[in-house]
Amino acid sequence: MVKYNIKANRIFTKWRKIAWLGTFVIAVGGLFEPLLGLFVVAIIVGLMVMSFLRGRYWCGNICMHGSFYDLILIKFSRNEKIPNFLRSNFMVVFFLAFFMFNMGRGMINAFTAESLLRPRTLFVFRLIEIDVTDTVGVLRGVGFVFVNTYWMVLVISVCLGLIFTSRAWCQFCPMGTFQRLSYRLSKIIGTSKKTDVMVSAKSKLLCHSCAKCTRVCPMQLHPYLEFDSNSQLKSDKCIKCKTCIKNCPAHILSLQNEENATKITQQTEHSYALKKPEHRANIEKINKIDKNILEIAFKIKNSTVDFIPGQFILVNIKNNPKMNRAYSISGFEKEKDLLRVTVKKAPGGYGSDIVFNSLKEGDEVILEGPLGHELTVDKTSKNILLVAGGIGVTPFIPILEDLSTDVGFNGNVHFIYGVNKENELLYLDDIKSLTNRRDNFKFTPVVAFDDNYKGEKGFVTTVIEKLSLSDTKIYMCGPKPMVDSSEKLLGKMNFDRRNLFVESA
Ligand SMILES: Cc1cc2nc3c(=O)[nH]c(=O)nc-3n(C[C@H](O)[C@H](O)[C@H](O)COP(=O)(O)OP(=O)(O)OC[C@H]3O[C@@H](n4cnc5c(N)ncnc54)[C@H](O)[C@@H]3O)c2cc1C
Ligand code: SF4
Ligand code: SF4
Repeated sequence: MVKYNIKANRIFTKWRKIAWLGTFVIAVGGLFEPLLGLFVVAIIVGLMVMSFLRGRYWCGNICMHGSFYDLILIKFSRNEKIPNFLRSNFMVVFFLAFFMFNMGRGMINAFTAESLLRPRTLFVFRLIEIDVTDTVGVLRGVGFVFVNTYWMVLVISVCLGLIFTSRAWCQFCPMGTFQRLSYRLSKIIGTSKKTDVMVSAKSKLLCHSCAKCTRVCPMQLHPYLEFDSNSQLKSDKCIKCKTCIKNCPAHILSLQNEENATKITQQTEHSYALKKPEHRANIEKINKIDKNILEIAFKIKNSTVDFIPGQFILVNIKNNPKMNRAYSISGFEKEKDLLRVTVKKAPGGYGSDIVFNSLKEGDEVILEGPLGHELTVDKTSKNILLVAGGIGVTPFIPILEDLSTDVGFNGNVHFIYGVNKENELLYLDDIKSLTNRRDNFKFTPVVAFDDNYKGEKGFVTTVIEKLSLSDTKIYMCGPKPMVDSSEKLLGKMNFDRRNLFVESA
């Protein structure tokens, strides 16, 4: 069974990579020198000040426990859905009360006049004795209260983290609750208006509803279902950890304050998404190209599809909550209302599992789009370089079809298509026949890891670095590592970034 929640890809600053050690320094070191526990006072002050400015930013970026959960505990966690009970208000209030009672009792013990008059001993796992008859002794007693609390947090959070998910504790952590309360207060008195940054979409209309943000969210929030009219997530539970931002395949998310989010939405070209039409379609044919690749033909019912070559379509694969998958349109026959996508199975992929195991010929599905403008080719350009990697070949089939049949188009086209093994080259005959239609079209397949391959060997960058790229516009689609290394190379070649158009999941 493929898991819904994804563990990988949390964000680690230099601080977060080492901060988790601090938890153990205080918890274990505090057993020998309880004064270490007083460091927690500084932590509480820090997180409270921060919460007035940025809500639970501390939890996702600075908290030592948090970095332990994200870096270490996550590896051993079952990563399951957090039960509603642990997320309930009852749990939040109960734990806050329990925490306050425990802390209060500990403090009274450390501070009471009685303790100061008579030598008293606090036992900590019977490792140390604290004499609270002088000021340093009282401070050690107070420090121990925090050390004790640290142990309580560690034990509970590790147990819940192993059983559910690494941030299960954070759902009702009293420090998180304090931050949420002061954040709410800061909203009322306005201290966080400029400083607070929230997960913000360039425009919620550009969201694919793919649910990736939810699946990677350590707090198991639903950003894509909760964007407000300003395309922002206003949840006080968000720890601003940026995990959803890093993983969004539409690359539309960032952390912004309210003012900047509004500006970004206004500056974002999303008019085409305003009319994101929904189409009912039947699956006309599923063609198994090989065990990992399906070509699915959809017959559109009772609506018209306006398609520009290079665009993708959203295929609804699940409801409650809604979940789509984006697939580039690899074929379109307007007169027959037929639209084709080509799907590669992602190992362990949630959507792949549904597409490969549940979709059948005859099924009715909802499609949204077509969408996307990154791969809409500027036909006035003198030279056009098309670069595909792996399954990124799909949008280029209709693009080549269009360019090769457009009588008004005279540009030079070079199509580079990179794969790992020769047998992964898809649509080879189609591409050859399309690029052979014109003398000024060139096709270079390139194979990375196949000793028997007779053609160009290496990566797409092996081919690009040999080219002269003046008066050229580049359109690229493929996996992130390919895009990253190509962008790096193009930077070295002083290629103008404004002439590079990229689509990558
Ligand atoms: C604009 C656009 C166009 C696209 N066009 C196409 C197309 O034409 N054809 C096509 O096949 N795809 C295309 N994609 C990609 C497609 O939308 C899906 O993202 C892709 O199929 C994977 O989806 P999934 O749900 O199967 O995988 P996911 O479940 O989202 O998993 C993605 C990857 O993460 C890994 N993963 C999952 N769970 C974990 C975990 N717990 N720990 C670590 N790693 C994990 C998986 O192994 C997998 O490799 C396109 C994407 C975009 C944005
Ligand atoms: S919504 Fe995004 S930033 Fe907020 S907690 Fe979830 S993953 Fe982190
Ligand atoms: S595109 Fe996917 S990951 Fe990005 S905001 Fe929308 S649902 Fe979330």
